Amino acid sequence: MNNENCIFCKIIAGELPSRKVYEDDKILAFHDINPAAPVHIICVPKIHVGSLNEIEPKNLEYPARIIEKIPEIAKIMGIFDSGYRVIINVGKDGGQSVGHLHFHVIGGKQLPLGLV
Ligand code: AMP
Ligand code: ZN
Repeated sequence: MNNENCIFCKIIAGELPSRKVYEDDKILAFHDINPAAPVHIICVPKIHVGSLNEIEPKNLEYPARIIEKIPEIAKIMGIFDSGYRVIINVGKDGGQSVGHLHFHVIGGKQLPLGLV
């Protein structure tokens, strides 16, 4: 998928609405439209990277910024101390449904244990 058809690129461009939580020059974080828990934030790079499989040295600063800022986003959402889970789905078996790299930040309740 290229970025013309990409819903997260449209959100970044302001062509689709989102409930923004955090934004800087490289990343955007917004509420998931179908939350899996009381807190469910989607963090995206502000360039179109299709998935974790497409990370390379020239775009690494974008996911690096997401990792750097996740604790700050957790503080904004009030889940820094209670804890949270960060998930990146990749491809078909990983359950990735939007082809723009994104980190799920999920918390606000005890999350189910068992998969990992
Ligand atoms: P994944 O299944 O890992 O690709 O995650 C995609 C996530 O994006 C899902 O949790 C969706 O609920 C969420 N999502 C899809 N469209 C939107 C949207 N327009 N605004 C916010 N979240 C969205
Ligand atoms: Zn995109």
